Amino acid sequence: MELIEIDGSMGEGGGQILRNAVSLSAVLMKPIRVYNIRAKRSNPGLRPQHLTGVKAVAALSSAEVSGLYVGSKEIVFRPRALKGGKMSFDAGTAGSTTLILQSLMPVMAFSREPVEVELRGGTNNPMAPPVEYFQYVLIPILERMGCSFEVELLRRGFYPRGGGVVRARSKPVESLKPIRLMESGSVRKIRGLSYSCRLPAHIVERMASTAERILRSAGYGDVHVERQALQPGDNACSLDPGCGIILVAELESGAIMASDNLGKLGVPAERVAEEAAQSLIKQLETGAPVDKHLGDQLVIWAALASGVSEYRVAELTMHTTTSIDLCRIMAGISAEVDGRLGEPATIRIAGIGHRRPG
Ligand code: ATP
Repeated sequence: MELIEIDGSMGEGGGQILRNAVSLSAVLMKPIRVYNIRAKRSNPGLRPQHLTGVKAVAALSSAEVSGLYVGSKEIVFRPRALKGGKMSFDAGTAGSTTLILQSLMPVMAFSREPVEVELRGGTNNPMAPPVEYFQYVLIPILERMGCSFEVELLRRGFYPRGGGVVRARSKPVESLKPIRLMESGSVRKIRGLSYSCRLPAHIVERMASTAERILRSAGYGDVHVERQALQPGDNACSLDPGCGIILVAELESGAIMASDNLGKLGVPAERVAEEAAQSLIKQLETGAPVDKHLGDQLVIWAALASGVSEYRVAELTMHTTTSIDLCRIMAGISAEVDGRLGEPATIRIAGIGHRRPG
């Protein structure tokens, strides 16, 4: 079969192009060559997290891969057959487990058998979805498309040493239903989690109460943020100290919108919570039901679904437009984007109606 050529420097030019390309390659059984990998980053080429991600997808699709080493700017990936079973992968130190899952999940869904993967690395990393984002937002939305995933956090992992453990299970899906998320309606309730490991419990309390106060004074009545302060001795406690917050709005239309933030050394807990709360308020005020991160994460699923998916994002990002371009090249989808970068936009994707082989 002829290789599909993917220019990793297109659009956003980061790791997501590689993750989506490898994932689609395995699901659709189309061999690819990805070149200029992460060309628009200051440290281009494969980082350990990307490398583990490609290896994991290769293991699930019995793929033959060349160019797999840290720093590599080009890979050739030839999938052979999807398989199920139990596997484990280590992202090394704090490589993001959720970004690895991002490319594994479509492959897990279309595998012939249930899959269970255990991933080691970071569970709450900067510039990546925290594991709670998958549990509270992505997976419930994917369930509506017909998917069956379970993601369990066994141990938190923060920068620099990581060491977190996440277990993901899937049941195979025959085909995916399209998704329609066009209206938000009013906000039913806002729930959240303020978490920390190896830090004094007042940090979690300050993040939670600050977020609750800001959201309530913005007019949202039903707000509750759970507090979780893990200490050494707790099974899920990380190796390194860390903290963060995720806020999740459940909308009358059934949509779910979230905003999250991680604690940083020298940044007061109140500021961490305030940034997450203000970002949620800003996105809710647009009246669009899909947050900017779900906007890009849904593209690959909509591309594989049977029928037209339509959703309105609070903010159109280059991650989203780049994912759409990649799905045009690899899956031949037709898609329309109505809106400008940085603003609310409507996305329509005519999925290819992929069906599980066999
Ligand atoms: P690179 O280092 O090359 O930029 P990367 O592999 O770290 O790449 P990106 O290409 O930037 O990753 O993709 C990041 C992914 O994580 C996107 O799908 C984005 O929506 C998601 N993401 C980033 N931050 C968050 C967050 N705070 N909450 C939820 N999802 C997030």
